[in-house]
Amino acid sequence: MRVGIFGGTFSPPHNGHFNAANDFRESMALDRLLIVPAAVPPNKEGLDLLPARHRLAMCRIAFAKIPGCEVTPIEIDRGGTSYTYETLTALSSPENQLFLMMGTDMFLTLDTWRRPDEILRLATVVVASRSFDPETTEAIEKKREELLSVYNGNVVFLKNVICEVSSTFLREKIAAGEDVSEWIDDGVLQYIEKEKLYDV
Ligand code: ATP
Repeated sequence: MRVGIFGGTFSPPHNGHFNAANDFRESMALDRLLIVPAAVPPNKEGLDLLPARHRLAMCRIAFAKIPGCEVTPIEIDRGGTSYTYETLTALSSPENQLFLMMGTDMFLTLDTWRRPDEILRLATVVVASRSFDPETTEAIEKKREELLSVYNGNVVFLKNVICEVSSTFLREKIAAGEDVSEWIDDGVLQYIEKEKLYDV
């Protein structure tokens, strides 16, 4: 089984996440794609995070159209700070070949994550582009070389449809009462409105 893993905060999930996930599934010929909302992401400890149940519910709506895609509460159920190497360890088995997708911003910090050696040993790292900026492309090439000079593993760059949007930008727009329907699934927007999320 070729199993893809895509983790994040997903507050809220947006079209950048959806497009990358869809391209990930197709390009890597995945049999299963697991969307993994973090309980507490290490880079967002201490921040005011939306409760996990809302992020989980929004992911279930946002990624429903991708065949073979499941949203899993594995990190939420584990609780505490969500370390990717622990999730990969839990999902690793002789039958599973793991692929871990992340955006360029996260890839540039991968060497500061807990146990990058284990992450690269357990999964092929797949990097999705978030912007058209040539400097970022150069930086990720350099980071790939750096990482692979220290650790054994595979890092591949996904040819994905680029959607330059972030959850931070969308939370701000929602709080200001602006229209975000261009970037967020209709069902997710209805959920946000019903639950009054991100209102100031
Ligand atoms: P925030 O603005 O709150 O930090 P975000 O938009 O970066 O959120 P996350 O949930 O933190 O979203 O990201 C989860 C994963 O999705 C990360 O690997 C991130 O790099 C990736 N990602 C986020 N936005 C995009 C995008 N527009 N295109 C491709 N990948 C993305």
